[in-house]
Amino acid sequence: MNLVAKTLLGPGRTNPAKVAISTVDGHQMRYADLDRLSGQLANLLVRCYHVNEGDRVAVQSPKCPELLALNIACARIGAIYVPLNTSYTDREIRLLLDDATPSLLVREALIEHDTPRANLGRLVHEAHDQSSHFADVACDENAPAAMLFTSGTTGRAKGALLTHGNLVSNCQTLNEVWGFTPHDTLLHALPLFHTHGLFVGAYCALSSGASMILMENFDAGEVVRQLSSATVFMGVPTYYVRLLAEPSLNRDATAGLRLFTAGSAPLLRATHREFAERTGYTIIERYGMTETGIITSNPIDGSLKVGTVGRALPGVEVRVTGGSPGDVEVKGPNVLIDYWNRPELRETEFTIDGWFKTGDVGIVDEDGYLEIVGRAKDLIITGGYNVYPKELELVLDTFPGVLESAVIGLPDADFGEAVTAIVVPRPGAHLDEAQLGVLARSSFAKFKVPKRFIIVTELPRNAMGKVEKARLRRELSRTQESSERLKPI
Ligand code: AMP
Repeated sequence: MNLVAKTLLGPGRTNPAKVAISTVDGHQMRYADLDRLSGQLANLLVRCYHVNEGDRVAVQSPKCPELLALNIACARIGAIYVPLNTSYTDREIRLLLDDATPSLLVREALIEHDTPRANLGRLVHEAHDQSSHFADVACDENAPAAMLFTSGTTGRAKGALLTHGNLVSNCQTLNEVWGFTPHDTLLHALPLFHTHGLFVGAYCALSSGASMILMENFDAGEVVRQLSSATVFMGVPTYYVRLLAEPSLNRDATAGLRLFTAGSAPLLRATHREFAERTGYTIIERYGMTETGIITSNPIDGSLKVGTVGRALPGVEVRVTGGSPGDVEVKGPNVLIDYWNRPELRETEFTIDGWFKTGDVGIVDEDGYLEIVGRAKDLIITGGYNVYPKELELVLDTFPGVLESAVIGLPDADFGEAVTAIVVPRPGAHLDEAQLGVLARSSFAKFKVPKRFIIVTELPRNAMGKVEKARLRRELSRTQESSERLKPI
């Protein structure tokens, strides 16, 4: 049995005429089409591109329904699917290819590298001559299914090796917790190269026999228009901020929905509140990582706690060690088996008793709800005192005229690190550094008060909406005068 293929294609086999994936411009792929194309692609990859069990297939391709068929084809072969961020440059791709040594790179543009390359359109075209019958390679829960590179923007990228068991256990658990049924339609606006869009979004929809509307890119106006055909929407916090800027987002536009989820970065309380006021829905915040899939989620039964990321999913264990706030560690069938080619990371990324260190700092309350306070490496140590940026950001965000903030530590001769707040004003608001200082002094212990406020029009974010603190630290510490790089007002 091939665990991923069985899980993703199984439910559709009972209703093959059902539309599995549709696009905004009217293209439809039924479950029977997905099954057939994935079989044809599997035959093509094995026979013509010599992809075998255990081989890597690297994919940097625009989002489309055929991409999911390719992913399933790789699973059926027992190959390891390696999705690559569409914004990676040739230089970055070459480094990742050197590391992953794939048998095939699926990519539109040529690249100087000795990995054989084909674009997805050509593969799909060639696949039509192949048989749709493919004898799936047996893959149990321990067989590797995918490798996702993480931390591509900071330091050396690591390939997180995820098994059939990791992927299947996580989407099946989420289907239970989020109540997915074949009657659902997921409006899918997330990228398919990231764990959130691929293994949470697409896998939940397919494994429950639901339908998906695939949007090539996130476009807030188009999302609001498409919501009338959907029951579930998943987003990163930035999506929700942009949706709130759409005047057409209201109770009518969201009337057919049953679930909105958010994750991959912290959701501002203001976003939560404003979204509930405008639509009547409380966004279900969940927490996860590339290495682990989803770890915790708020419940959908009304017992959600805003400001937390909910409780550990069934079958997943979470603990906080070294104090409270402390280091968040996780154990369960969702956790990666290893990093690719990096045996030394077994020692550093896992505890001796086998828990995976998330690198996040959190607090678990008496009901088991986890609050993420920040990343361990974002912790600021100033004059010997620990300052957790998130604690400050939550308060700064409530100051009049402040839209959002990021707190970082910058090198300082006196304090080691100086607490520095980068603040974005609300549209039309005027912020004054001195005034922010006065408010901060009345809100925080002296050692936490930012030594400096920097007012900017927006915070730098990566594709998943995460504030790029490493970039802020790098650019601001290069020279204390360098704030002009951050688009000051
Ligand atoms: P990635 O591997 O790109 O999915 O990033 C994982 C990291 O995103 C986690 O370790 C957290 O730091 C962060 N993250 C994911 N979900 C949340 C959330 N709901 N709240 C705060 N941080 C989150």
